Amino acid sequence: MTVFQQIIDGEIAAEIVYEDDRCLAFHDINAQAPVHVLVIPRKPIPSLAALEDGDESLVGHLLVVARQVAETLGLHNGFRTVINSGPDGGQSVDHLHVHVLGGRLLAWPPG
Ligand code: AMP
Repeated sequence: MTVFQQIIDGEIAAEIVYEDDRCLAFHDINAQAPVHVLVIPRKPIPSLAALEDGDESLVGHLLVVARQVAETLGLHNGFRTVINSGPDGGQSVDHLHVHVLGGRLLAWPPG
């Protein structure tokens, strides 16, 4: 059971900014930018590497929600979306999530 599954199940509180029948978005507990939100599917997909045929629509929906959240939270000057996958990708929670970061100039490339 991941911490994100516990948030989906309502067992752990999160500062939710958006939710629907397929996903939810909430503020990251350890924000790396003035705005740092995570968009996650309700379906327990462990990572991008575990996507299956048929997940296309869901993953597309996560990105549309990421755009909506960025707009709602005022990221009109741009933002970054990140999906970390696996140990080398820096993934620490094994439930697919899209980071939405903004509110400051973000350096590139990442470390
Ligand atoms: P990643 O390292 O890409 O797997 O990202 C996992 C993210 O989840 C990190 O940025 C953590 O700060 C964040 N996180 C972990 N636990 C919680 C929580 N209970 N509520 C909100 N964000 C969390």
